Amino acid sequence: MIDIKNISKRVELQRDAIVAMIKRLKRDDPFASVDRSLIVEPGTDAGVLFGHEQAVVMEQRLKKDLFEIEYALKKIKKGTYGRCEKCGKAIEAKRLEVKPSAIYCFSDEKKMEKKR
Ligand SMILES: [Zn+2]
Repeated sequence: MIDIKNISKRVELQRDAIVAMIKRLKRDDPFASVDRSLIVEPGTDAGVLFGHEQAVVMEQRLKKDLFEIEYALKKIKKGTYGRCEKCGKAIEAKRLEVKPSAIYCFSDEKKMEKKR
């Protein structure tokens, strides 16, 4: 049996951490407050550009995680937590232990990763 209370607490903590990380990324991104058309301005520092690209990639990754986490929280509230969104089978307890926000079972997640 999975300890749903413990898991929901962990997932909430994860969500808070990711929200904080996204905020920090936005603050540190050198282009966050600059008009996007200025990015290709000649003389733009390559290092700054690189930093911006890194921040964008990181942010996208974090937002994807955040989406899954919020989805998992919704499932906890609905009482459907721990069921795979694809096949409807129970997600392996071990997997939830490692990744409490998992919404797909191991084999479905693998299949999806191959498609990317
Ligand atoms: Zn599945």
